[in-house]
Amino acid sequence: MTAEFDLAVVGSGFGGSLMAMIARRLGRSVILLERGKHPRFVIGESSTPLANQILEELADRYDLPRVRPLAKWGPWQRTYPGIGCGLKRGFTFYQHPIGRPFAADPARRDQLLVAASARDEVADTHWYRPDFDQFLAQEAQNLGVEYLDEVALCGLEPGEADLTLTAQKGGKNLRIRCKLVLDASGPRGFIHRALALPEAPLEMSPPTQGLYGHFTDVGKMADLLASRARFDETPPYPVDAAAVHHIFDGGWIWVLRFNNGLTSAGVAATDALARALKLADGTPGWARLLERLPTVREQFATARMQFPLVHAPRLAFATGTVAGRNWALLPSAAGFIDPLLSTGIALNLLGVSRLADVLAGAQDPETIQSRLATYARQTRLELETTARLIGALYATLGDFEVFTALARLYFAAVSFTEINRRLGRAHLAPGYLLCRQPRFAGPMQACCRAATDLFRTAPVAPAARAALLEHLRQTIAPFDLIGLGDARRRNWYPVD
Ligand SMILES: Cc1cc2nc3c(=O)[nH]c(=O)nc-3n(C[C@H](O)[C@H](O)[C@H](O)COP(=O)(O)OP(=O)(O)OC[C@H]3O[C@@H](n4cnc5c(N)ncnc54)[C@H](O)[C@@H]3O)c2cc1C
Repeated sequence: MTAEFDLAVVGSGFGGSLMAMIARRLGRSVILLERGKHPRFVIGESSTPLANQILEELADRYDLPRVRPLAKWGPWQRTYPGIGCGLKRGFTFYQHPIGRPFAADPARRDQLLVAASARDEVADTHWYRPDFDQFLAQEAQNLGVEYLDEVALCGLEPGEADLTLTAQKGGKNLRIRCKLVLDASGPRGFIHRALALPEAPLEMSPPTQGLYGHFTDVGKMADLLASRARFDETPPYPVDAAAVHHIFDGGWIWVLRFNNGLTSAGVAATDALARALKLADGTPGWARLLERLPTVREQFATARMQFPLVHAPRLAFATGTVAGRNWALLPSAAGFIDPLLSTGIALNLLGVSRLADVLAGAQDPETIQSRLATYARQTRLELETTARLIGALYATLGDFEVFTALARLYFAAVSFTEINRRLGRAHLAPGYLLCRQPRFAGPMQACCRAATDLFRTAPVAPAARAALLEHLRQTIAPFDLIGLGDARRRNWYPVD
């Protein structure tokens, strides 16, 4: 069978399906090719205010009214109660000393709570991806996207003005000719392999491993803390209605609760810790990890795994080429950075938005090539910037004061971006994490580098550490629209 389309999208995660829907709205003929079959388990669930804002913008700009309710908890619950979802009111971080319970310091020096929304109605969400991705793939088909699942892509043949994909489905050979291929098949995905692209590691991206899955009956930190912690204020949001991060030297655990009784949880750890715990063993590795973290062990005392945990031997990845003649990789296929700050969805949606601009613009080959080249540069810069920050955070996992000071770089940058976008002044916040804002990008890069260098060797010089904290404070101050520099808040930041 031979078929012709304007656009082929590889991979029907949320990125691929959204891309395909937008292209249909722009009048293109589109085929969406999926190796597997929905519904399927996939990780990467915690959204953020900026990600949801971009989702909302895409829904408005490309007339996707059925997607728009998914950008906030309240409309989502009213419109699609059957699509699994978690309430995310903020980012919760607890620092755990290895081998001892969480101390719950009354001065809150071992926790960081950053609210993302003032109330549930407008809150962010965790996307239960089996439901979420299946819904979007179906929506794409409803808009006229040709959808082929359980398809095995074999190769990509470049032509003069188009590309041909060769594939197999149900024992039949397929040839799909198209003007453009967008690859949304994830890290080390289809085009990276088909064209044998080189890897180009991101500077400072920590080499980490992951172990994760879905659980039932996971306890709540609010219940565990109720009996043992004495705080003189009420937290800015219910602490479990959040992306809960348990931080410890060498790694961190995420806990994301859905409204269907399931909780997503997993660990990302440095190679050294992952080897020591033998995370590659799967479930026994998880048990060994919890042995070292008594409070987390208590939280998971009644928990049951829905299926054996998945081990990812290497999270970090970046391809050497993000776009070529008539093809491009979505950011999630171009690179991957440890998910410590839930950056993947936002980066991916920014990429979808930029590639949509390419589709919506002039269609002569030179313009398309030049815009794809710009897209590739932007994507690489944003991945590099994110990797630098995550690398610095990993270097300081054992020093929570410096860790929180670095994390504030993220919260300052994304809240500054979100507020300016809402006010129609996106040009004031160029690039993810303000990576093209000269007054922020340079100092942020310098802080990340200084932190990584400083914490490479122990003991850390107190004067250099103090200078780093001061540099961080000064970097954040001009962009701090949410009171991150106000010491009276003692690491609890409500929405003002
Ligand atoms: C452990 C972990 C935790 C994460 N947590 C978060 C988080 O909390 N917040 C966040 O923002 N991001 C997170 N991420 C990142 C997030 O998972 C990704 O950004 C997101 O999944 C990208 O979505 P996507 O639709 O582009 O690709 P994917 O979700 O990866 O989907 C790719 C699709 O392509 C299909 N496919 C693959 N190869 C082929 C092929 N050869 N042919 C056809 N189809 C193919 C797959 O079957 C799949 O359906 C996390 C990632 C990991 C690994």
